[in-house]
Amino acid sequence: MRLAKRRLAERTAGFTESVIREMTRLVAMHGGINLAQGFPNFPAPSEIKDAAKRAIDGDVNQYAITWGAPSLRRALARTYGELYGMDVDPERMITVTCGATEAMVSALLAIVDPGDEVVVLEPFYENYGPDAAICGARPVYVPIRHPALRFEEEELRRAFSPRTKAVIVNTPNNPTGRVFDRTELELIAELCQEHDVIAVTDEIYEHIRYEGAHIPLATLDGMADRTITISSASKTFSVTGWRVGWIVAPAELTAGIRKVHDFLTVGAPAPLQEAVAEALALGRPYFDKLSAGYRARRELLFGALETAGFSPRLPQGAYYILCDISGFGFHDDTAFARWLITEVGVAGVPGSSFFSRPELGRDLLRFTFCKTDEVLRDAGERLLTTRDRADRR
Ligand code: GLN
Repeated sequence: MRLAKRRLAERTAGFTESVIREMTRLVAMHGGINLAQGFPNFPAPSEIKDAAKRAIDGDVNQYAITWGAPSLRRALARTYGELYGMDVDPERMITVTCGATEAMVSALLAIVDPGDEVVVLEPFYENYGPDAAICGARPVYVPIRHPALRFEEEELRRAFSPRTKAVIVNTPNNPTGRVFDRTELELIAELCQEHDVIAVTDEIYEHIRYEGAHIPLATLDGMADRTITISSASKTFSVTGWRVGWIVAPAELTAGIRKVHDFLTVGAPAPLQEAVAEALALGRPYFDKLSAGYRARRELLFGALETAGFSPRLPQGAYYILCDISGFGFHDDTAFARWLITEVGVAGVPGSSFFSRPELGRDLLRFTFCKTDEVLRDAGERLLTTRDRADRR
């Protein structure tokens, strides 16, 4: 008899396909407005597009240095210095990656051993679950509770143990829209130091804020040498398809991260790195304008959702609105999300995809507002029909 081996490795069993990307495919199939996956439908700034074209025409078409083009690492070091007063050595502390997605996996693979615990604030961006599974980490979840959307000090304290290797912190937060304040970050910093834990921060929405300041955890006392800071060009410059992200970390951690990154991807797209380096020079005026534009879109979608009976929660940052859908008589967020696509023609992300246990997100749906006013207005009009259609079901 032939020996039958399991074809798929066990690590693939611990997670499912991305629900966010599934919703994108579903709405493309049925036709409708995609307010599910967070990618802008408006053009990237002409400066960054022109710079990319120049780089390609200038034959920057071969591998960049594995850990990033020198021009981009220099631009990043300058930017972190100017905006946050961080002292970043571009030679030893920066790794340019294929988006924040690869950055998170590379960082975790570099620091987490199978069986290590990783503290994750919940709800969380759905990638962190699979990221932990790929590393063989054991996630320990700490709730961010409605309505204040703060975590409880005691619950966070309890989550840290001698087995904790890392904590993942995402601020501005996807999906809650929270921008964590100094007091909250100080508690995380204190626990990291007390338990010798590394903080891995996802700061991809750092320039999309409506309230509060962005405080990189790395800038808090004692945190520079135990924080891995991740960000990306995707949301800041509306180029989610370029796959250019980066990691800022102490030299010792960077050395390990660069090895993982090298053998996973070799490097991020070379000409696009040149373009991001140039775009970073747009600096504060550009970042402020970005937030102002998103603030207007936030008002537009929030108003429409409120009128349509979705009980939206106003975000402080990032470009998502979480809604309470319990009023529509569905008891399953995924069924509701599918129904909304086929019957109303608008896609959102079911709340359960942001929780470790689906029942915790049953009443929630996330919409993004990184779309033009016209699309948001159209979505608003369609959503207005939700109540009637749900009642007639
Ligand atoms: N971060 C975006 C979101 O939450 C996009 C996710 C993705 O598909 N990479 O929708």
